[in-house]
Amino acid sequence: MLSVSNDFYQSWLEENYLPLIKDAASRICGCDLKVILEVHPEALSAAPPAKATIKNPAVDRPGSARALRPGDKVGPGAGPLNPKYLFASFVVGPSNEFAHATALAVAQAPGKAYNPLFIYGGTGLGKTHLMQAIGHYVHNHSKAHVNYISCEALMNEYIDSLQNRRVKYFRDKYRNTDLLLIDDIHFLTKTAALQEEFFHTFNVLYDAHKQIVMTSDRPVNEISHLEQRLVSRFEWGLVTELIPPDFETRMAILRFKQRSLKIQLPEDIIVFIATHIQSNVRVLEGALIRLTSYASLYRKPVTAQLAEHLLQSTLDQEKKEPVTLMVIQRNVAEYFDIRLADMTSAHRSQSVALPRQVAMYLCRTLTTSSFPEIGMAFGKTHATVLHACRRVGQRMEKDTQLKQAVGKLAKQIELNPVK
Ligand code: ADP
Ligand code: MG
Repeated sequence: MLSVSNDFYQSWLEENYLPLIKDAASRICGCDLKVILEVHPEALSAAPPAKATIKNPAVDRPGSARALRPGDKVGPGAGPLNPKYLFASFVVGPSNEFAHATALAVAQAPGKAYNPLFIYGGTGLGKTHLMQAIGHYVHNHSKAHVNYISCEALMNEYIDSLQNRRVKYFRDKYRNTDLLLIDDIHFLTKTAALQEEFFHTFNVLYDAHKQIVMTSDRPVNEISHLEQRLVSRFEWGLVTELIPPDFETRMAILRFKQRSLKIQLPEDIIVFIATHIQSNVRVLEGALIRLTSYASLYRKPVTAQLAEHLLQSTLDQEKKEPVTLMVIQRNVAEYFDIRLADMTSAHRSQSVALPRQVAMYLCRTLTTSSFPEIGMAFGKTHATVLHACRRVGQRMEKDTQLKQAVGKLAKQIELNPVK
């Protein structure tokens, strides 16, 4: 745990130097470390380094480590909530007002308004923020027991509990809660046993009128390998979508972030950022911090030209829509005239298996996703993906028709994908 003097330094260091600090610290200690930056106003830059404790990941489970600042009204029971993710710091606009209103309604009347609440949308659009805002609100306004966990952490905990014969403890923990917040539920599909477990937990909580909130990067019916009984339950309450914010909202978000980080950029630069970065609030925030840190480090005013230069790679990325695994699956399915569902099915017939392998191969070559991530999107193990990629690579060397098909698909997905 390293102390910094304010939010701004925290975001800036996290954004730009965290991996470097982590590597250096890990090298010195000779073991893999997790580094957390915490805000301590007394940790002034001129002062000698404030107390620096570094947490060992073996003690601190992944997914549960989130720095809470001293003085925050987050006590035990609130889970690892990020103190910044409040309703008060969520800027509302047409793209998110419905999701915001439903989240607030749920926070004000948990278990009564909409149960479960299912929030979905692309990355960096505020799903985690809204979900944790519900957690904070309920925690601060009642004695309710709040449980926030990412689906991946839940999965790890479940596997641990199986190995350590602590399933009962796991079960009790999630069934004896008033508000269960599960982030990124689309990862639930990996473990059939966890789906079974979660099904019963869901029923217990639901029957007891306890609130359940879930987020996902896609609509319920597009989550591959999710049991039908869970699909229908997830849709019982209210499903709400977050879409990318419009220009006005992007401006409002940038203004809000400037105020809360106590920074100031010229208005034309704010307009420049809001005009060019449209798809992701996290990236919008990152651009603001990048320009501000440059200006303060070099004591130079930020001009439009400089902004364009500093944000070049972000802007290029923005122009080119990132290829998602889902888009690849869709294009490959269409090309080979099979159903999208076959991409994630267990069918092994050659007419389905080959396109599926081609899709996995393209996911690996056209995106930065890892084998396990690709495996997750196809409902397969990482070894299956690895095998598929090797196999397609080998086959293409001999089979020119396949090689042409893969080349054509890659081009289409990069330039003009079916969405
Ligand atoms: P997701 O979970 O959808 O990937 P997050 O909730 O992590 O996205 O949001 C990414 C970042 O953008 C966070 O820092 C969050 O505070 C910020 N953010 C997203 N939407 C808003 C908003 N409407 N107002 C203020 N900040 C937002
Ligand atoms: Mg999230």
